[in-house]
Amino acid sequence: MRCPICRKQVDVSPANRFRPFCSERCRMIDLGTWASEEYRVAGGKAEDREHPDDLPRKRTIH
Ligand SMILES: [Zn+2]
Repeated sequence: MRCPICRKQVDVSPANRFRPFCSERCRMIDLGTWASEEYRVAGGKAEDREHPDDLPRKRTIH
């Protein structure tokens, strides 16, 4: 069978503890762990950029 995440051929024998996925990475993606981590990081970066750090400069001009 194939991994539902990356479509790679999966070893379905008991030796593969990540069944039905090919690896721990694909199992984590399926659980949504990776996705939620990515969204949190992206959101944090966007918020940092929105900080109005040029306010002190305007005060100096005034
Ligand atoms: Zn996979």
